[in-house]
Amino acid sequence: MKTANIGYPRIGAHREWKKALEAFWKNETTEETLKDALKNIRIENLEKQQKKNLDFIPVADSSWYDHILDTAWSLNIIPERFRSLEDTPGLDTYFAIARGTKDGVASEMTKWFNTNYHYIVPEFDDKTKPALVHNRWSDAFNEAKEIGIDGGVPVIVGPYTFLSLSKGVEQFSERLNELKAIYINIFKQLEKDGAAWVQVDEPILSTSLTTEEVQTIAELYNDIKAELPQLNLKLQTYFSNIAHWEIIKKSNVDGFGLDFVHDGETQLKTLTESGFPEGKTLFAGVLNGRNIWRSDIQTVGVLVKALNALTPDIVIQPSCSLLHVPVTVELEKDLPSWLRDGLAFADEKLTELSIVSDWAAGKTTGADLQLKALATLQEAPGRQKNEVRQAVAALTDEDFHRASPYAERKEKQKEAFQLPLLPTTTIGSLPQTQTVRQERLKWRRKEKSNEEYEAFIQAETKRWVDIQEELDIDVLVHGEFERTDMVEYFGEKLDGFAFTRYGWVQSYGSRCVKPPVIYGDVAFREPMTVAESKYAQSLTSRPVKGMLTGPITILNWSFVRNDVSRRDVVLQIGLALREEIRHLEENGITMIQVDEPALREGLPLKKNLHEAYLNDAVESFRLATSAVKPTTQIHTHMCYSEFDKIIKSIDALDADVISIETSRSHGELVSAFEDDHYDKGIGLGVYDIHSPRVPTQEEMVQNIKRALTVLDPEQFWVNPDCGLKTRAEKETVEALKVMVKAAHDVRESVLSKQQ
Ligand code: GLN
Ligand code: ZN
Repeated sequence: MKTANIGYPRIGAHREWKKALEAFWKNETTEETLKDALKNIRIENLEKQQKKNLDFIPVADSSWYDHILDTAWSLNIIPERFRSLEDTPGLDTYFAIARGTKDGVASEMTKWFNTNYHYIVPEFDDKTKPALVHNRWSDAFNEAKEIGIDGGVPVIVGPYTFLSLSKGVEQFSERLNELKAIYINIFKQLEKDGAAWVQVDEPILSTSLTTEEVQTIAELYNDIKAELPQLNLKLQTYFSNIAHWEIIKKSNVDGFGLDFVHDGETQLKTLTESGFPEGKTLFAGVLNGRNIWRSDIQTVGVLVKALNALTPDIVIQPSCSLLHVPVTVELEKDLPSWLRDGLAFADEKLTELSIVSDWAAGKTTGADLQLKALATLQEAPGRQKNEVRQAVAALTDEDFHRASPYAERKEKQKEAFQLPLLPTTTIGSLPQTQTVRQERLKWRRKEKSNEEYEAFIQAETKRWVDIQEELDIDVLVHGEFERTDMVEYFGEKLDGFAFTRYGWVQSYGSRCVKPPVIYGDVAFREPMTVAESKYAQSLTSRPVKGMLTGPITILNWSFVRNDVSRRDVVLQIGLALREEIRHLEENGITMIQVDEPALREGLPLKKNLHEAYLNDAVESFRLATSAVKPTTQIHTHMCYSEFDKIIKSIDALDADVISIETSRSHGELVSAFEDDHYDKGIGLGVYDIHSPRVPTQEEMVQNIKRALTVLDPEQFWVNPDCGLKTRAEKETVEALKVMVKAAHDVRESVLSKQQ
């Protein structure tokens, strides 16, 4: 049985890529050095894959920053503000689009389907003239040939997905035709170079498309194929089953790459019912490219056999690019062996492909070892905690409801807090200076004792409680100085989590994240945030919000075990947070914010799956927050603006106050409230924290007033649009000063109108 990879992590096992890029951006190295460094990483990645005996090795899956930007830049799709930078767009233009310049803001960045990877949104306008200016696919194919890889498979994002993810595309079908012609040229060159296959990624096919849209895609590939008798086209999708298989299967391509892991049962069912076209190759994504667990080879083998019964020509591969997993488990020397042996990062997944292929051929040694590792993991300490299982099983409807409805709580809270109209607050984190980071590092390296570190954090908290009082902010925060990452902080304190040392995955550009691993039942051990919150509250008579990360965000930003349902895991997290909230309340914390910034990104690609996901998100949140007294005010925060589609679920969280990031698209969000009535407390960020710029009082007043055209002043809160962790202190204090003034200004004018 043949094996393929469809994309390899670009960051390097030690994040060499990040280091090379950042040194270049800081002007510490030249363009030549950067190019050499990236070439070395590419070659090393290819050589590693060569050793895995793959039949198909992807090329051109590397990037300078992001593969969508690579495509746009190579096709001369440059935002207007950067067009005059260079005659032919070179690296200066490329990085200007990605990172902005003093004169031009960077292009928007957004999440890649339902992952935590962010791509740069291509921008079209009526003067955009697509043309092939860099044939990076041909270059990559030839580069691989030089080291003896003759059958490299160039990977390119397909024109339909590319255009669908772009903005400013006015005449879609004209633009599609324009791109089609360019793609045909790219492919013709590849044909000349000697490529046998090209992989065209159209993950848009995994979303809910109409039959017309899928028909257009099928025709697009018929047209392309008609010009390329020699070259084999592989139409690749991932992240879910393909929409309208019965249409797309008739397209004239030579092979289909399908995901049999995510919604894989649906995919298999469709294929069984509707058949696989004769004479074509099925590239079957049978290993999960998005998690880090070893596969149960037997189950995979059974799937492969079922597929083989449908069609003879099968190539097995990961379900998607391995971009979404870390490079190798080999570096994880600190993990206990029962856990380490149960993990498969990119390199191990490629080995698994040959284990599956051996298994299918009757050689089971590799598979047996793998099954043993999984059995050991299953028996591991903490994998199953009976008290946790019982607690989840014993949940009743009551556990998901607050004792009194919002209308009653609202009155009681009003009475208890006596807040002014349009109260001011912030989202939680305050500037984490270099000093804060250094002190934490010293403490982690044991150069600082626990006492010294805690004293430092307390001093920083106190300094900022004073600043906030001085600024006259109504509801304070402790500042989150003790946290690096909002998920890691809780993961380290809960049972069931493990942390890798080098398990990095790219999030955007040179930024990588190291998601925690949820391997066991999640359980509360001891209070996680009480000391910090209690200390901060002891310093002031104003309320200080307790600050927690919510269940669905912890789930979405972790690598999650796959032996129990995600619903069970998220309920376990909800229960653990419920316990934390109980402790906060007992210790005099009267406002508690539970952040859910990742709620939206986890939305499944298929509309018919939205409800179940949102239901889990809502229930786990309510489980965490429902046991509090009516006077305890529950806040939540989310950072995205496209929330009109899920406003019902947000309402269903039953949080007393929500703050949302909106300042970049204020108008749009505000209009969402014209259509949907929302009656709880709400803060629509009145300024953008993603830029160091201090907005004017006038701008903020405008933002508040605009919101008040659709929201009641009695429900509106004034706050920045996200946490202030990445900002410098000086600009933060200035901006908050302006914010408080703006709030006071509007407060007075509303009050005077009321009289
Ligand atoms: N409370 C967190 C903070 O202020 C929220 C972060 C987020 O929204 N991503 O940093
Ligand atoms: Zn946010």
